[in-house]
Amino acid sequence: MTAPLERLHTVAGLRARLDEARRNGLRVGLVPTMGALHVGHRSLVESAAADNDVVVTTVFVNPLQFAPTDDLAAYPRDLDGDCALAEGAGASVVFAPTVEEMYPDGPGPGVLTNVHVAGITDVLDGVARPGHFDGVATVVSKLFNIAGPCRAYFGEKDFQQLAVVRRMAYDLSFPVEVIGCPTVREPDGLALSSRNRYLTPEQRAGAPVIHRALQAGREAIEGGATHATDVEATMLALLHAEPVVDSVDYAAVVDAATLRTPDPLQGTLRLLIAARVGRARLIDNIGCNAAPHGR
Ligand code: AMP
Repeated sequence: MTAPLERLHTVAGLRARLDEARRNGLRVGLVPTMGALHVGHRSLVESAAADNDVVVTTVFVNPLQFAPTDDLAAYPRDLDGDCALAEGAGASVVFAPTVEEMYPDGPGPGVLTNVHVAGITDVLDGVARPGHFDGVATVVSKLFNIAGPCRAYFGEKDFQQLAVVRRMAYDLSFPVEVIGCPTVREPDGLALSSRNRYLTPEQRAGAPVIHRALQAGREAIEGGATHATDVEATMLALLHAEPVVDSVDYAAVVDAATLRTPDPLQGTLRLLIAARVGRARLIDNIGCNAAPHGR
């Protein structure tokens, strides 16, 4: 029989629990989340459970990564539901600290140390959400330091975040192996997101245009398009034709490693979109290889 899920709320409690697990030779998997868990999160926990003996799902809505105009106060919270989903997916521990536990002097001026990953954060969401990735890198570095040596699972759904966390772990020598997991989608292509619950039925019906636009961009590239502006125009035309899309923060094609747009398009690429649909800011991305030149 598997042990019941443990809920831990303190830094010291999680540290002690995982130190003991490692002393007993157990492998630790970490799945950082902001809660309101869905099937996309479940796939991360399942991957972690397949590779490790003890899986910790962290549930923490991190104020540092929200701008004052963002949806921090409205962000959905359901710890009991999260624990049930995490346990069902194979987690042994849910770590759900309070804001005071993570930031004893407060999350604003009370945090004097900031982790900033340069180079890949001055594009895309780094421009659309100033300071966001510093908040992400800072909280993830805290979680890595609290958890200790482990494998950590992040979704490709947040492609730039995955790149930032990977680079941070590499540059700062965290004893953490960062593992990227594929995006889980609804049958109509909409990427699962905690923010999808903000959508009205009409907005929900129109939101898959984001995935369709990404696919159209990929088809253009695979068909031989070599100018990013043409590919971006293809994606924007579809997005702007859908009435539920209020605005588009970006519809971009970039090199998957540098997150810069190559001219002409070449190599391993990533197409990314961020768009506002009603109250929700939705992001999604897909991969693609540039067609060989001369086609
Ligand atoms: P969040 O709770 O939105 O911060 O997400 C926590 C983790 O789950 C991040 O690593 C996300 O990339 C990942 N995630 C969110 N949505 C999905 C999805 N649809 N498929 C796969 N992973 C996801």
